[in-house]
Amino acid sequence: MPIKVYDLAKEFKISNTDMVKMLSRLGYDRLTPSSDLDDSAESKARAELGVMTAAPAQNGTNGTASATTTATGASSAGEPIEVPANISIKELAERLSVNASEIQKVLMGMGVLAAINQRLAPDAVNRIAQKLGKTVRTAGAAAPVAPAEVAAAPTEATPTTAADNGMKPPTPLVKTAVKTPGTMGSKSLAQKGRPVVQGMVVRPPVVTIMGHVDHGKTTLLDAIRKANVAGGEAGGITQHIGAYQVEANGQRITFIDTPGHAAFSAMRQRGTSVTDIVIIVVAADDSIMPQTEEAIKIARDAGVPIIVAINKMDLPDANPERVLTDLTRYEIVPEAFGGDVQTVNISAKTGMGIPELLDTILLVSEAVVEPKADPHGKAQGTVIEAKLEKGRGAVATVLVQQGTLTVSDVIVAGIHFGKIRGMQDDRGVKIQKAGPSTPVEIVGLSGIPEAGDRIEVARDEKDARAIAQRREIKQREERLAGRNTVTLEELYRTLRVGAIKELNIVVKGDVQGSVQAVRDSLSELGNDEVRARILSSGVGAVSENDILLAASDKEADISNSLVVGFNVGLANGIEKKAEQEHVVVKTFTIIYELIDAVKEAMVGLLDPIYEEVHLGKAEVRALFKLPGGRAICGSYVQDGVLRRNGKARLYRGKDLLYTGDIDTLKRFKDDAREVQTGYECGLTLRDFNEVKEGDTIECYEMRQIPREL
Ligand code: GDP
Repeated sequence: MPIKVYDLAKEFKISNTDMVKMLSRLGYDRLTPSSDLDDSAESKARAELGVMTAAPAQNGTNGTASATTTATGASSAGEPIEVPANISIKELAERLSVNASEIQKVLMGMGVLAAINQRLAPDAVNRIAQKLGKTVRTAGAAAPVAPAEVAAAPTEATPTTAADNGMKPPTPLVKTAVKTPGTMGSKSLAQKGRPVVQGMVVRPPVVTIMGHVDHGKTTLLDAIRKANVAGGEAGGITQHIGAYQVEANGQRITFIDTPGHAAFSAMRQRGTSVTDIVIIVVAADDSIMPQTEEAIKIARDAGVPIIVAINKMDLPDANPERVLTDLTRYEIVPEAFGGDVQTVNISAKTGMGIPELLDTILLVSEAVVEPKADPHGKAQGTVIEAKLEKGRGAVATVLVQQGTLTVSDVIVAGIHFGKIRGMQDDRGVKIQKAGPSTPVEIVGLSGIPEAGDRIEVARDEKDARAIAQRREIKQREERLAGRNTVTLEELYRTLRVGAIKELNIVVKGDVQGSVQAVRDSLSELGNDEVRARILSSGVGAVSENDILLAASDKEADISNSLVVGFNVGLANGIEKKAEQEHVVVKTFTIIYELIDAVKEAMVGLLDPIYEEVHLGKAEVRALFKLPGGRAICGSYVQDGVLRRNGKARLYRGKDLLYTGDIDTLKRFKDDAREVQTGYECGLTLRDFNEVKEGDTIECYEMRQIPREL
């Protein structure tokens, strides 16, 4: 049976694009990943791949160590600067002694918009260096992902000298090998026709979906999952574990199954980023909305490539052109307009365009992200979600990012640890091992970790416990330090404007992940005058304890305490208790609504600000003195309006003689609330009678301006 292009690509662990390109160089044009290869094409391809992937670019033993010798980039002229494979833009900039932005500019010239933490394929490094007039040599080193943690001995692979030395083997990347001189000469392993499967290999890209509420994020996640579950028959049973994998064109894609910006931002705040690509869903009948804008900003800040899915194309009033045009206002230039952002028209409801969207993800992944990881050795990963389940204990969904996670591994997750007792994939199937980009649900941890916590494998349980304990102590110290430290600047501000007001908040949520996301979003709120202070947070329904806790910090008569629940209910009798304690309790299912409600409560604590609004002007044309000395100013309104409850200033020429209130205002004999331009009136000023004919009276009012955060 003829082999397919993508099967061969998979076997040699290279991308479909690289495989198609290589075949085209061998004279096999117009192939797609699903094309069949005849025997002769296959054997030529195998021979070529064998040569290309077999040997490192330089002598294979100079590995990682040499990379550090020229780390400052201060190499003498012409001498190549050694860089590790898969170096990030930032690191490369350091090595080449240039600004990261210069590298980004070069890349932009190549049509690639990249963030500074983006890693670069060796050939890209060569090209960049060339453009910057530098010479580099790509060492056979892997990405510097916690090198000490990576175990040296891979399981199935044939060990090479480099691996035996504990060094990372060369990357089996077609691009590197083809472009690096010397590679073709190394025939020693070529005859075997197979690459040495070690070191960094292509892993599935990890994708997060964002966008405005109701634009179809959840529907899209469901549609993709139902249609394409990896390895499963269509419509196979899936369970929500926080992430899932699908298969398209023989390649896998991992989706984070929790739409939302808060979770994404929360992870980033904790220094973890699991996402390679962000899909921004925009409803074609609604175009860019505030949360779309927010999503663009978040993805930009994270330096993650964006794909725009223009959704709801089945609707009669779908207007994708408008979306494209609107995107340009946010400096997202769609490919259709000559830019570099891919857009795909879809309908999450009918399924239209979803295969194209998946193709586009693979395209961007291969062209821009090139995600790679080393599947060998100890695993590292990140917690996506965690919860407590009856009968199972702490259940955590983990995305494996490096190495292979194996049942019975002893792991540390944040301040918790444990031996993995069981592991399931996104379909609930029990599995023993999970490689990079695989989402798995694990049981066996001592407690519920937080979304964004790193997972690492420890030597044994004793070691794990010690690491977890050290972290817990450190966390506690940090928390205490954070509470007591006030910077000088803050102190100064406090002295100047009075105490910073605080809104005390108790947060409850359904899972640790959402609680963390809510916490993180709330702690960002506030300004110089007011801030959110999270008294406590946890998983579960809002309880009496939460109310009492909020009440204990409440100032009399001020609503400065709040209990918020996210996706949870209230325990029995809570409403009554809250009423007794004068504590506001609110529950939400949409995070933005929760944030808005908290913002509103915070705004309520702010001191009001007033602004002056000019109402009108009148000229004093006649004066009447009442017994007792009161001066009635017979005036003519020249512009605007004079109001009885307005404030007044009296000018003589340019001199301001009085500031105060209008006391009485009459039209003829009757009291008037206001008098318009072109009319005459009689008025008195409060406590002021030194008026002369020809004076000008200006009327204004102080209007309270709505405060916002
Ligand atoms: P989210 O808030 O972004 O997660 O949006 P949802 O996925 O909950 O979708 C909001 C609403 O839009 C729901 O009523 C969906 O049925 C509907 N919807 C989502 N995608 C489409 C689509 O492609 N076409 C149409 N007509 N409706 C859609």
